[in-house]
Amino acid sequence: MSNVIRNWNSPKSATTLSGHIVTKQDALYLKSHERAYQTLPTAMHFVYYDPTVPRGSTLLCTCGAAGGIFGYEGYKRWCSFIATEVIACSEFIQQGKHADGSHE
Ligand SMILES: [Zn+2]
Repeated sequence: MSNVIRNWNSPKSATTLSGHIVTKQDALYLKSHERAYQTLPTAMHFVYYDPTVPRGSTLLCTCGAAGGIFGYEGYKRWCSFIATEVIACSEFIQQGKHADGSHE
């Protein structure tokens, strides 16, 4: 099943295919790292916790790709606003575009 979520109305929130509403956050706290990471600001999609995983730390992007933590070396080609590790879409970092082909 495709996990792609379309954001027609507001880039601040989205409804997953399982019916959960997820919201865009400036930072996400990772229990496994015991700290929060800023999220890379992208316009079309955002990374959120998978609401179907209890107590989980599974990061997903609303484009359907996985989210992850990336260092400045990984994202500086796309965004130069901060110099620490950020949470971002893995497709966006590696391919320069989201899984649905959008570049933001
Ligand atoms: Zn994405």
